[in-house]
Amino acid sequence: MDLHYTEADEAFRAEARAWLQEAVPAYGPPPPPGDLGVRRVYDTGWQRQLHDAGYAGLNWPVEFGGRGLPSSQQLVFLEEYAAAGAPYVGINFVGNAHAGPTLIAEGTDEQRRYHLPRILTGESVWCQGFSEPGAGSDLAALRTRAVREGDEYVVTGQKIWSTRAHVADWCELLVRTDPDAPKHKGITWLILDMHQPGVEVRPMKTIDGESHFAEVFFDGARVPVSNRVGEENDGWRVTNVTLRFERGTAFAQHIITLRSQLRGIVALVDAEGAEDAGLRRHLGRLDARVEALWRVTQRCVTEAEATGVPSPLGSAVKLGYSELGQEISRLGLELLGRRAIGVDGPDDPAARLVRDYLWSFQYTIAAGTSQIQRNLVAERILGLPKGR
Ligand SMILES: Cc1cc2nc3c(=O)[nH]c(=O)nc-3n(C[C@H](O)[C@H](O)[C@H](O)COP(=O)(O)OP(=O)(O)OC[C@H]3O[C@@H](n4cnc5c(N)ncnc54)[C@H](O)[C@@H]3O)c2cc1C
Repeated sequence: MDLHYTEADEAFRAEARAWLQEAVPAYGPPPPPGDLGVRRVYDTGWQRQLHDAGYAGLNWPVEFGGRGLPSSQQLVFLEEYAAAGAPYVGINFVGNAHAGPTLIAEGTDEQRRYHLPRILTGESVWCQGFSEPGAGSDLAALRTRAVREGDEYVVTGQKIWSTRAHVADWCELLVRTDPDAPKHKGITWLILDMHQPGVEVRPMKTIDGESHFAEVFFDGARVPVSNRVGEENDGWRVTNVTLRFERGTAFAQHIITLRSQLRGIVALVDAEGAEDAGLRRHLGRLDARVEALWRVTQRCVTEAEATGVPSPLGSAVKLGYSELGQEISRLGLELLGRRAIGVDGPDDPAARLVRDYLWSFQYTIAAGTSQIQRNLVAERILGLPKGR
């Protein structure tokens, strides 16, 4: 593994920077948070622009609409993307970051041909239906049932915390197909069409007053057998592929965004002429940790390129990112002090820092809690005995 960028990577950087410098201001800022329908239009419109300019699916195979570039250039693009303040294409995080990559690794040719180009052009949006009220950290305890009837599965049960399910077209869904098998052996990974009778989405409110995620209820929803990824009852293996993408490579964009977030805080400190040496040392240490984490992310992404799937190192990346993100956001809030309570609408510069802080709570829970990542680091990276 070589973490230096090549001349070709730097040439690509210049090309990407030039495009972003024009395209980002021309597309305009995102709409105010709150209305996911409006946000879907904004995000998918931007995704379309990325696609048309050749910047979607940079390391996805050319045959599926990607550009087939080395992952080093995907990383270069993310660095330039964050530096340009380009919009976070959050609406289809699931499609771009882990459902699409899972289909590349495990899907059938028919599934890849249908879904991958639609993800890249922004035509379709995905959500994740993994967690249930009784199955979060212990995901294999899931109970949503799928019973085979001819060429279809009939799905009944409930999912929870499905991010942006209210505006999704497709769901990467885990179901129990064999209730009598040991819990890890009776699970199947399905692609479910969200626009059908028997699927009800109920939005949930979060700490910032918005509805980022939802409960999803299934009552006789149908999935063609051709929408199964992997074999029936082999879904736990496929799930681990998805989770490795989710923890290992999906967060790369967030991690590089931490760099911009920290630079914003440094600018605030500079603007106020703060001379506190302790504060400056603290900022320096945080900066060094962001850069170190970016190096580990580079390693994770290049490893995934070599093997097809990220290694368990992704758990260490996810753990580091989520805890560092919380420290950086907390510092931002501390610097705001009393101003944090009197934020005056979304255009107030303080609003961004307050929002980053409120958002940061979720990172140590979403995609598997910090405790679970620590267990995985202990067992799968350090080789320690399994905890009880
Ligand atoms: C913002 C956000 C977005 C999300 N989006 C989605 C989504 O789109 N789709 C989806 O399916 N899910 C989603 N989730 C759900 C997420 O994956 C779960 O919340 C997470 O896996 C934890 O499960 P839980 O909430 O049931 O907590 P629990 O599993 O009940 O855990 C409660 C506490 O017990 C601890 N704990 C549990 N087991 C162990 C153990 N073995 N060792 C040590 N400690 C343990 C946990 O660390 C935690 O602190 C999202 C969550 C958040 C916060």
